[in-house]
Amino acid sequence: MLNYVKSCGGVWTSFGILTCDVAVVGAGIVGLATARELILRHPSLNFILLEKEKELAAHQSGHNSGVIHSGIYYTPGSLKARLCVRGATLAYEYCEKKGLPYKRCGKLIVAVEQEEIPRLKALYERGMQNNVRDLSIIDGKEIREREPYCRGIMALDSPYTGIVDWRMVALRYGEDFEEAGGKVVTESEVDDISMVKESSAGSTEGMKYPIAVKDKKGNEIWCRYVLTCGGLYSDRLSQISGCSREPRIVPFRGDYLVLKPEKHYLVKGNIYPVPDPRFPFLGVHFTPRMDGSVWLGPNAVLAFKREGYKVYDFNARDFADALSFRGLQKLVMRNITYGIGEMYRGVFIGAQVKILQKYIPELSLSDVLRGPAGVRAQALDRDGNLVDDFVFDGGVGDVGSRVLHVRNAPSPAATSSLAIAEMVADEVESRFSL
Ligand SMILES: Cc1cc2nc3c(=O)[nH]c(=O)nc-3n(C[C@H](O)[C@H](O)[C@H](O)COP(=O)(O)OP(=O)(O)OC[C@H]3O[C@@H](n4cnc5c(N)ncnc54)[C@H](O)[C@@H]3O)c2cc1C
Repeated sequence: MLNYVKSCGGVWTSFGILTCDVAVVGAGIVGLATARELILRHPSLNFILLEKEKELAAHQSGHNSGVIHSGIYYTPGSLKARLCVRGATLAYEYCEKKGLPYKRCGKLIVAVEQEEIPRLKALYERGMQNNVRDLSIIDGKEIREREPYCRGIMALDSPYTGIVDWRMVALRYGEDFEEAGGKVVTESEVDDISMVKESSAGSTEGMKYPIAVKDKKGNEIWCRYVLTCGGLYSDRLSQISGCSREPRIVPFRGDYLVLKPEKHYLVKGNIYPVPDPRFPFLGVHFTPRMDGSVWLGPNAVLAFKREGYKVYDFNARDFADALSFRGLQKLVMRNITYGIGEMYRGVFIGAQVKILQKYIPELSLSDVLRGPAGVRAQALDRDGNLVDDFVFDGGVGDVGSRVLHVRNAPSPAATSSLAIAEMVADEVESRFSL
């Protein structure tokens, strides 16, 4: 038993159980950034990071648009607004310091219809309130100077927006964590967070490390505190620690199209639509990637499996879980037409191209191919409302008071990751006596 952590070193109990001060569950960009921040602040403590996959950043953090958002969209004063603006600055500084490639290629949010102009101007005001750098409104002529193939009547120009490979950034956070003495254990799917067994609780180690974190293979670690950053499984991790299951996570798959290489010249920077406030996602956009490719999309359809990247991926538990949740039933009833439209555009890519042609009329169906997909962890309350802001939450009782869960970290959590890490580390310090 415990071969999986034997190589980790760490502090062992007299019963041969590994102990640590803080166990972090989930090695996506949020877990990695936060584990890094905690160990840099507390180098004398023991930290172990548990990840169920073989690789780090295998899910949302490795399947996203790769945009460094500047913070325009979010409600002023919200965590999203504050942490995105600070996070973008920290992300650029981090990439500079570590020599990680990025491009500050900018972004245009383009209005193609007169009726979108009031919303575009409201977005500008919002961005200004959020202290987004260098924002301006430009007209159709200036749009064409920036993006020669883009047709729009007015745009919000955000030159501070950039692109980066978030998976690469996350892996670098992981290296920092390990260089500082942290231990990463992969292929360890945590399925129980509880008090150590009564028979061991009276031992010296049992008193010092009262929380037992167990994985599906039966391996066990004892710790003082637990932090979970479980992305698409954040509600289940909360539930197994005796904390609230809500907000629940519903997975939404986003399928991208890719532009054929000979058409890359059509797109220089990020081109986004003016978001429709009735819908939760930003709308299909044109995004250049660090490897030179250009992605178009994504759409947003209900996925039948958490972490299911293909149309036919299906998991009975995930599916039943989602369908039986009142919150999702209400959301579906309210957005049935939108949902069907998204599914239709997922199947018939000509319909998706038609929307994209509003921005780049020269684009044709023969210029695009089906591309990769990502799955968003969308938090939902029981009334069917999408939980928009980041949510960090603990519980009560013996276990709950020693656990902090990152419950909702949707986009732009990659951009915000270093700022989220600072905030969660502050929260860990104020809740727990490290
Ligand atoms: C399609 C898409 C496009 C996006 N585009 C952008 C963008 O351009 N810019 C931006 O800033 N953000 C973007 N985002 C958002 C961003 O990618 C996510 O918000 C961010 O990656 C969330 O990180 P995370 O660490 O919380 O989750 P994840 O990356 O999903 O990591 C969670 C980790 O927890 C692990 N885990 C779960 N359960 C367990 C368990 N029981 N035991 C052990 N490990 C477990 C998982 O395996 C996973 O590795 C996008 C997201 C999507 C889906």
